[in-house]
Amino acid sequence: MTRQAASAPRRLDFATELTRWEYAAAPETTKVEIAPRYGHFIGGEFVGPIGGGGHFASVNPATEQPLCEVAQGSEADVDAAVRAARDALPAWAGLPGKERAKYIYRIARRIQERARELAVLETIDGGKPIRESRDVDIPLAAAHFFYHAGWADKLGFAFAGHEPKPVGVCGQIIPWNFPLLMAAWKLAPALACGNTCVLKPAETTPLTALRLAEICAEVGLPPGVVNVVTGDGRTGAAVVNHPGVDKIAFTGSTEVGKKIAAAVAGTGKRLTLELGGKSPNIIFEDASIDQAVEGIVEGIYFNQGHVCCAGSRLFVQESVLDEVVEKLRIRMASLRVGDPLDKNTDIGAINSMQQLATIRRYVEAGVAEGARLHEVNGHPLPDRGYWCRPSFFTGVQPSHVVAREEIFGPVLAVMSFRTPEEAITRANNTPYGLAAGVWTDKGSKIFEIARRLKAGVVWLNTYNKFDPASPFGGFKESGFGREGGLQGLRSYVQL
Ligand code: NAP
Ligand code: MG
Repeated sequence: MTRQAASAPRRLDFATELTRWEYAAAPETTKVEIAPRYGHFIGGEFVGPIGGGGHFASVNPATEQPLCEVAQGSEADVDAAVRAARDALPAWAGLPGKERAKYIYRIARRIQERARELAVLETIDGGKPIRESRDVDIPLAAAHFFYHAGWADKLGFAFAGHEPKPVGVCGQIIPWNFPLLMAAWKLAPALACGNTCVLKPAETTPLTALRLAEICAEVGLPPGVVNVVTGDGRTGAAVVNHPGVDKIAFTGSTEVGKKIAAAVAGTGKRLTLELGGKSPNIIFEDASIDQAVEGIVEGIYFNQGHVCCAGSRLFVQESVLDEVVEKLRIRMASLRVGDPLDKNTDIGAINSMQQLATIRRYVEAGVAEGARLHEVNGHPLPDRGYWCRPSFFTGVQPSHVVAREEIFGPVLAVMSFRTPEEAITRANNTPYGLAAGVWTDKGSKIFEIARRLKAGVVWLNTYNKFDPASPFGGFKESGFGREGGLQGLRSYVQL
């Protein structure tokens, strides 16, 4: 560590402390083997694509280098996967819960044993900092399998008075922001309840789902119980439209969610949707401000802001607005953007060139509409790769596009309020309803406000905390159905 001169005089003392320290690079050194080319995982083995889909490259967004080729799933590939899942269903559904649990436990254990490798793979395929994939994504993915293994032989207690039966073949489509974790959220409850699955990972981040398929084979999961078909949105649509699928579980954008809802309508297929958000983070004057600033940073800059429940609308009580903005600016200056494999990195690469372009469009729109952009991170960025400095807007009006639309990047819209009533009204004034944060010292205020916020999850004096026992999901255009907890099991059983 070398100490550098402070670049500019700052108002608060701890500012210079935060920005002064330079760290030597601390790269993650685990080497991960990646085959030049992957097929789909169907019926317990990796098979080449049929139906002429061919292959495409999965790219490392921090280097723009292709990592390997994966198969573009055609309708024929999806059909083969659905057939394999259908064939495997009677035996898997008929297995006693405690036997299914053993497989699910083994998957969880294997994820733990291969955690380092999975974390590196997640980081190089998707761009998120190794610290996050290592400390958040992979442990939580294992935790989801552990948790649901525990339910497999207790479904009769979960739904007392019923004999829960599996739904059947589940088509599961996931996004690129938490690739392995979203796969775990989908597969673990489905397997616990005796369903079989066809999983479609996102085009830009298929590698950990393929590694998870390998783990399924390693632990001896019966062939066809889990199938993974890679590809882009066309592959997802083929899963949605396949008549042999009994349930669709989708996590992704509201736009695609609406298309899927339309496609599934009238088919008798079950559907759960986890969609976008524009979640409010509300800071009251009586909150611990330093702690709240950490929560704001966690809420919007975690995973480059590629978080459906990101606290992307910040509401600060007027009396503490200046203090919060100043402390936020200072805290942001200490965030490190850069090599996701470096353990010092706070903000990694944006997942794709398209997403970077989307974020830039929003930032330009914010400036054009008259909001004031604060972009304070001065560290040099790598020459190649998709990078975005964290930023926030002040002077934001509720009508501004940056206050209304999901940006899905490290860009925060800061607004103020005077009374708790106003905070609630403005926080609820959105077509979304996924999550919210409330920061206050007063217990009574916490419960009253949490009760009145229309959000699936409300975090109190914290943000972005997840647990497999805690149901997650939205209201309004953020979707319907819950994942995690007892509520999450409900969509994978017939009563
Ligand atoms: P997306 O474009 O909706 O994609 C999600 C998944 O759907 C991907 O696997 C995608 O394949 C596939 N897909 C695309 N078009 C499809 C179609 N017509 N039919 C079936 N599948 C299709 O979303 P994204 O941009 O990857 O992810 C970001 C969005 O996900 C954000 O809006 C975010 O809020 C939301 N999200 C929500 C949650 C939640 O739990 N509520 C969690 C994470 C993310 P390709 O990858 O090839 O496009
Ligand atoms: Mg990739």
